[in-house]
Amino acid sequence: MLIDLSTVKINLLTSLSHGQVNTAVLRLDELHSVVSGNKWFKLRFYLEEAQELGKTTIASFGGAYSNHIAALAYSCKELGLHSVGFIRGENTISPTLKAATEQGMQLHFVNSELYKYKNQIKKEFAHKDWYFINEGGYGKTGAKGAATILDIADFSKYTHIIGAVGTGTMLAGMVLAALPHQKIIGISVLKNNFSLAEEIASLLPEEKKHAFSLLHDYHFGGYAKHPTALINFMNNLFEQEQLPTDIVYTGKLLYAVTDLLNHGYFGATANVLMIHSGGLQGNQSLPKGTLIF
Ligand SMILES: *Cc1c(COP(=O)(O)O)cnc(C)c1O
Repeated sequence: MLIDLSTVKINLLTSLSHGQVNTAVLRLDELHSVVSGNKWFKLRFYLEEAQELGKTTIASFGGAYSNHIAALAYSCKELGLHSVGFIRGENTISPTLKAATEQGMQLHFVNSELYKYKNQIKKEFAHKDWYFINEGGYGKTGAKGAATILDIADFSKYTHIIGAVGTGTMLAGMVLAALPHQKIIGISVLKNNFSLAEEIASLLPEEKKHAFSLLHDYHFGGYAKHPTALINFMNNLFEQEQLPTDIVYTGKLLYAVTDLLNHGYFGATANVLMIHSGGLQGNQSLPKGTLIF
């Protein structure tokens, strides 16, 4: 439909590369003005399945700045499907949610306590015959879609592929698509989310259940936390490389890679590919002027 994969660029990050270690970034943030990053990849096969099943309404879950909700609303509109978003929290219309309603998404606000009981919500709406997608697109179908990120180009020269991790669905996709010589590394953006390895493993076949590493030291205090040190890093990175990042995922990824490079984590020779998984729309939650881009 709307996505032209041939336009996706891979940028070298010269200021980060050290000696024989080269770093490049796959610019999924530039995929599309609304459906940027990994979300369309994770959604694609769910939406295909929904259409095959003859479903006309797709429902899912997310927060007020959710990249998943933004991508779902737009993709559904493009495909002529109705969309419903169950939104955690109070009835506040963020720019993300405003855009989603403009794409025709119907919103239901759910208080943070009740939000934990997603199965309850699904049951309540079972009579509607909606096609439900897990929050963040978590699931094997999402991972299968994320694996197609590595179909965009020939990535065989890379020795390490590294991305930011929320639910781990994208990382599972990277593991599915990786070549035997490639190491897959995830930077968790949640604090102490130690069930994550298990959740990712459950999306993978037996022989690949442990074929990835997770690093838990780069969350900057927790999900969506963005202390000044992170903001300063993101602004400096933009000045040096004209690379915009987001406060929830990719800013933390780039910070992690910079730190790992300084510690020789990748060894003496390596070709490191970072996945810029998008999410820039989420920066709208910041006061104007916080970021220079
Ligand atoms: C959702 C998202 C991620 C995390 O993807 P998961 O598959 O949930 O791990 C990473 N980066 C961005 C920008 C995202 O929007």
